[in-house]
Amino acid sequence: MEKYWSDLVKQLRPYEPGEQPCMDGVLKLNTNENPFGPSPKVLSAIEAQLGNQLRLYPPPNADLLKQAIADYYGLKDSQIFLGNGSDEILAHVFNGLLKKALPLLFPDITYSFYPVFCQLYDIDFKEIPLKDDLSIDLADYEVPNGGIIFPNPNAPTGRLLAIGEIEHLLKANRNSVVVIDEAYVDFGGQSSIGLLTDNPNLIVTQTMSKSRSMAGMRIGFALGSADLIKGLERVKNSFNSYPLGHLQIAAGISAIEDSDHFKDTCQRVIHNRAKLTIKLEELGFSVVPSAGNFVLVRHFRASALKIYGQLKNNGILVRHFNKQRLDNFLRITVGTTEQNDQLVATLADILRS
Ligand SMILES: *Cc1c(COP(=O)(O)O)cnc(C)c1O
Repeated sequence: MEKYWSDLVKQLRPYEPGEQPCMDGVLKLNTNENPFGPSPKVLSAIEAQLGNQLRLYPPPNADLLKQAIADYYGLKDSQIFLGNGSDEILAHVFNGLLKKALPLLFPDITYSFYPVFCQLYDIDFKEIPLKDDLSIDLADYEVPNGGIIFPNPNAPTGRLLAIGEIEHLLKANRNSVVVIDEAYVDFGGQSSIGLLTDNPNLIVTQTMSKSRSMAGMRIGFALGSADLIKGLERVKNSFNSYPLGHLQIAAGISAIEDSDHFKDTCQRVIHNRAKLTIKLEELGFSVVPSAGNFVLVRHFRASALKIYGQLKNNGILVRHFNKQRLDNFLRITVGTTEQNDQLVATLADILRS
């Protein structure tokens, strides 16, 4: 009963995740899952955990996974923070590092969880409009602020910022935390991890959901200075001491270790993105240049909402955002060659009629 809810809960407008249908046979190109699946080594590592030790709590700091990530990225384990998906990490970052007297800055078109966290944690924020071509101009962020966050590449546009531009912003913004959400960086972007040494106010967040094809395992990590990570540990240890279970820890370590599978599947996504882009352009779509595992597209004549509905009738899910400036776009996840061919053939049919 709503009368028992707190005032905060009455006011919340929670994040709306993309549809996750239970039926088989739906082609899901709506939530940027990776079609190639995790490394086979991940599956055997999980199987090896299926025993009586599940009665025990996992190691609270998942030290072995921290070490594996630190080794892979050439950092110290004190610079790694782990969470139950990077959404949980972002929640702790908002709560612990971005709640300040001055407003937090992020783009008007970006990951729609950011304003939700601001509401949950009562954080003042200011949305900075993207340029007409949907790019971020970091000069717009050189104003007094309580923190800055944006994904690179941005979502749902796919547009990438060059590392030099981010470095310039960090130099101009020494007094608050800058968070680069790198959920999609492995699909063709350059990571800001290399900027950590000179920038103690930088936090980089990544996830194993997309480029390591494990959205169902819920493993995220953040990289930053030992000071910032220590702050996040304080929040985490005031919230949930065991965000990652035995299966997640084992899966995460294997996924990091099998870098061949990781690099190979990322390359296949990049290759398929280029081919899909050309085919969509041939059908009359304009495609925003993307460095993610998705493309944001708009048709010169047909309405996005109509195309969305007709694709759905044909068993293909893509993402439509009911939001100003975005409502005539569709965001389409890059699939396998066969999946992309099915999408393109169905779109061709729809546009013909
Ligand atoms: C998918 C996504 C995340 C969250 O990923 P998790 O599955 O929670 O690890 C964070 N930021 C952006 C921009 C995303 O697209």
